[in-house]
Amino acid sequence: MSINEASYAYGAAKSSIREIAAYGAARKAQVGAENVYDFSLGNPSIPAPEAVRASMERSLALPATQLHGYTPAAGLPSAREAVAKSLNRRFGTGYGPGDLYLTCGAAASLSISFHALCNPGDEVIVIAPYFPEYRVWIETARATCVEVMADAATFQIDTEAVAAAINERTKAVVINSPNNPVGSVYSAANLQALSDVLHAREEELGTSIYLVADEPYREITYGAEVPWVPSIYDRTIVCYSYSKSLSLPGERIGWVLVPDTNPDHDRLVLAVAGAGRKLGFVCAPAIFQRVIMDCVDEPSDVEAYARNRVALTEGLSKLGYEYIEPQGAFYLWVKALEPDAEAFFEKCKALDLLPVPSDSFGCPGWIRIGYCVSYETIVNSMDAWAKLKAQYEA
Ligand code: PLP
Repeated sequence: MSINEASYAYGAAKSSIREIAAYGAARKAQVGAENVYDFSLGNPSIPAPEAVRASMERSLALPATQLHGYTPAAGLPSAREAVAKSLNRRFGTGYGPGDLYLTCGAAASLSISFHALCNPGDEVIVIAPYFPEYRVWIETARATCVEVMADAATFQIDTEAVAAAINERTKAVVINSPNNPVGSVYSAANLQALSDVLHAREEELGTSIYLVADEPYREITYGAEVPWVPSIYDRTIVCYSYSKSLSLPGERIGWVLVPDTNPDHDRLVLAVAGAGRKLGFVCAPAIFQRVIMDCVDEPSDVEAYARNRVALTEGLSKLGYEYIEPQGAFYLWVKALEPDAEAFFEKCKALDLLPVPSDSFGCPGWIRIGYCVSYETIVNSMDAWAKLKAQYEA
């Protein structure tokens, strides 16, 4: 049977995060949910705000043909206008509805962006450790995914390493702040240094390099300021999603922004629309377009994550674990107690602790603990973390 081998390979390949989550579910059925500490998935544990339900109820009162009808491919102008106005209020920008394309979440926003930018043979740089699906979406756009390690001590962007990885084939750099899996937030100084490096390399090579800012965790921070990337680097495209900020990952709603300040704005807006058309990513779910129109300024409730973050970091630090202080998102990046993170994970698993080993994110020697779980899961897991640490001290 002749089918697309690349698609087959992606389908047949195991996603280790999903596998761990599936193992966790099976193990819970075996030994009781309260005895398994599943930190694998990034599924928000905070309910969506009440305003989401109220908006949906208002939509349900619309005539059915209006409620369920097609919207324009890029989304309802009123919804895009609401998003643009919100961004303008927050970042002092001058965006309009024509700069936005509504999508089924950041997954679609990123796929669209890579298809809008890349030609076969182009390279896209990702900062490792990185969200593993980037590689799939980059390769699907017929580009090559090039990993550049973050600074080993701070997990900020190693701008010199980025400069060294850039060549005439480099089309884009993807950054994700607040970061999955590390929880770091890139500082304004770090982003400025990246911007300087990109401009310098553009000039040397006579090329254009785009920055794709993937920002589903923008609203989930613990006091850190998340700089607005298009104000720092002109050739930026922003990918956003309400999966995390409004706890709506199953509803599939987000957007791509081509800022009016991007020097290639007019052609890029059409390339984004064309990529959406090519991929069949048109007309995001209408009811959720209306939800974001109504809820665009709804604050994210990060209190429960903040409480979990304190319980987890204090608990692990008392036990002597090393980790990167998380400034945003809901992940803790913890140093494995042996160099092989997969081997360390097996020891975690034997104690029913289920983090994700760092190899899944293109980086050796760490684990990711997703703390978008109940507070009790964190507190009750501490005995197991203590037992694990003791195994390495015996
Ligand atoms: N980018 C990052 C860094 C993520 O962590 C995720 C989901 O976990 C996505 C993109 C995809 O998000 P969405 O659910 O909006 O497709």
